[in-house]
Amino acid sequence: MIFVPTLLVGPSGVGKGTVLASLCALYPEVWLSVSVTTRQPRPGEVHGQHYYFLTDAEFDELIANGGLLEWATYSTARYGTPRAELEAQVAQGRAVIVELEMQGARLVRERLDPVRAVFLAPPCWNELERRLRRRGTESEASIQRRLETAREEMEYSAECDHVVVNNEVASAVEELVNLIGLSSLRAQTDT
Ligand code: 5GP
Repeated sequence: MIFVPTLLVGPSGVGKGTVLASLCALYPEVWLSVSVTTRQPRPGEVHGQHYYFLTDAEFDELIANGGLLEWATYSTARYGTPRAELEAQVAQGRAVIVELEMQGARLVRERLDPVRAVFLAPPCWNELERRLRRRGTESEASIQRRLETAREEMEYSAECDHVVVNNEVASAVEELVNLIGLSSLRAQTDT
């Protein structure tokens, strides 16, 4: 079975991380791209697991060496997708998922073919704001910046191949599993 790489896009706070953690617990055969970023780690975030946390100079060097498939500035930091490992995993036929914001998704869609873009949407705007605040890791200024960007990002859903509403994590995971074709993989393994 050949998997089309999946981009998971959606506004900050919508629950992309939670949905992906739950999906990977169910399907450890999925390969989740670990991005590089210049932002500071949040409490509990682990270098090499949640992100590779880089200095500005290290990030610049990666760009100069062609090491990133895409990169974008989001809020006050830069984020990018390391190229080599992702290409190797795709070539091996692994089910690959990349979580990223919309500028990066646009670039990857120009550079990688085939690729599938899935937009994770909040049930409603108020719920998004509530989730972003509940996380409790951002300053008020950062929350305001993220909400502003989120308004633009909501419009990006129209450009994506699929929209999954994250009403409840388990059902969003199930939808994503079906879109990626993971359920058929499990069915093959079971027989
Ligand atoms: P956060 O700071 O909340 O972890 O991430 C902020 C935004 O950056 C989120 O929308 C997240 O999906 C996005 N992001 C994470 N990794 C990448 C990446 O490699 N490239 C791009 N363009 N965006 C990313």
